[in-house]
Amino acid sequence: MAKYGSEVYQNYDLPQQIPKKGIATAKTIIEAKREVKVIRETDVIVVGGGPGGIAAAVAAARGGAETILLERYGHLGGMATGGLVNIIPNLGDIYGEQYIGGFCQEVIDRLAARGAADFPEKRFWGKSEASVVDMYLKANMMHFYIRKNQKGEYVVLYTAVIDPEVAKDEMNTMVLESGAELLLHTWVTAPIMEGNTVRGVIVENKSGRWALLGKVVIDCTGDGDLLPGVGVETIDYMVPGSRIAQFGFVYWIANVDLQKYDEFVASEPEKHKEITQEIINKGGWPFFCRGLLKHQEGVVWIHRLIGSLHQTDAEEMTYIDVKTRNQSVKSWELLRKYMPGFEKSFIMLSAPQLGTSGGRRIIGEYFLTAKDMDTDKPFEDTIAIFADNDRGELSLAYPRTHIPYRALVPKETEGLLVACRAFSADHEFSEFFNLIPHCMCFGQAAGAAAAIASKDGASVRNVDYNALKRELLKHGAILP
Ligand SMILES: Cc1cc2nc3c(=O)[nH]c(=O)nc-3n(C[C@H](O)[C@H](O)[C@H](O)COP(=O)(O)OP(=O)(O)OC[C@H]3O[C@@H](n4cnc5c(N)ncnc54)[C@H](O)[C@@H]3O)c2cc1C
Repeated sequence: MAKYGSEVYQNYDLPQQIPKKGIATAKTIIEAKREVKVIRETDVIVVGGGPGGIAAAVAAARGGAETILLERYGHLGGMATGGLVNIIPNLGDIYGEQYIGGFCQEVIDRLAARGAADFPEKRFWGKSEASVVDMYLKANMMHFYIRKNQKGEYVVLYTAVIDPEVAKDEMNTMVLESGAELLLHTWVTAPIMEGNTVRGVIVENKSGRWALLGKVVIDCTGDGDLLPGVGVETIDYMVPGSRIAQFGFVYWIANVDLQKYDEFVASEPEKHKEITQEIINKGGWPFFCRGLLKHQEGVVWIHRLIGSLHQTDAEEMTYIDVKTRNQSVKSWELLRKYMPGFEKSFIMLSAPQLGTSGGRRIIGEYFLTAKDMDTDKPFEDTIAIFADNDRGELSLAYPRTHIPYRALVPKETEGLLVACRAFSADHEFSEFFNLIPHCMCFGQAAGAAAAIASKDGASVRNVDYNALKRELLKHGAILP
């Protein structure tokens, strides 16, 4: 197992022993055969409107493909909005070099123009500017913004924070502006298969059960929801105690008097430690991050992380949701009762989407593993470069890693790309490279490739890499 950046991964719980009934009877039934109306015949169908899905839909539509984006909830953004995990980290390395541009940078720019994104100024990236470092340390945001360089000094990373509510609106606008069609409140339940080729999807929504046919389907569900129906081999192994083997219940507390809190910590540090310990002893979680956007004064975030090994198991999700919600409300009650500054606070929102970081992954034409992190060599079909900031000493030696297009192409299946955290990688690679900016890069590449394939009538497996590279560069991607 890789050596993890100790300051990043120290706070995670081990998997829970969860009582499950599983499949409680041996009985089966035969579903009635039924005729299903085909509501669309299109070029590209994107399933799931999270970071991967919005990038895929926009890129496909901009590439000239008739595109539809299907999302189960009433908003876009996935974990980045509905999951309240609104930090877009690791856009550059500890030396201040930016690697992720393209669609992800466009989202940040558009939100910044609305006062809904914030990030350290470029002149501070890779630098040890004390006032900037201190600000992020005080906000308890070290794991997103600060790393140590070779000299052991703290340096600032290029990481952005976004306002999830404005982001939901801006993402709708970006998708519709691109010319893609958007269908919300629609669960995709199965792929439509013809041999080993994906021809479309079955959806269910309040209007009924429908079929959509497309030349290319892109699975951006985060969990690879289409894969069991496609029948390909998947892998969902996660090392217990690692980042991706965690569910996260995220919630925001508002109306916290942080000035009062800071004065208390400064004037009575021992008392602060005592109260913190008291809250822990009573089963609460007293640690929080501060909202970083200028209009979020008095807002703090709590990520209650809890171990898991099966992130697509509804029984486990139910257990975790009930348990962490109960712990979270209790934690706030204890903070309000004991911690100066929290007296008039309230829970503003808990994330509608339970935080999942792992889940199913495909075995693609290229399977990324730990050894791919220990080299700076690009692939001949590189579609993204990622900053490698989270592996301590190893990151100092290899500050970047490359992603081949083949990691989005499932083996032995036609008509399908996977452009979300279900991309083709082992546990160790996913641990570091399945975050929001990474999934946006997968999505942008898959969408652009799907448009090229549907225009050329070619298989997505055989997309002309030079044409794909030109399209990605045209839309701001940073490539070797
Ligand atoms: C607690 C926690 C904190 C995290 N913090 C950060 C962070 O600060 N920064 C960061 O970059 N990453 C963070 N991550 C990781 C990051 O959120 C995810 O890896 C990333 O969002 C993955 O993007 P995605 O597009 O693959 O999936 P998702 O964000 O999960 O999006 C998938 C989308 O598909 C939709 N969908 C799913 N199934 C279906 C279906 N069957 N039919 C229709 N629609 C469907 C979902 O509703 C959702 O909109 C965190 C994760 C957790 C759990």
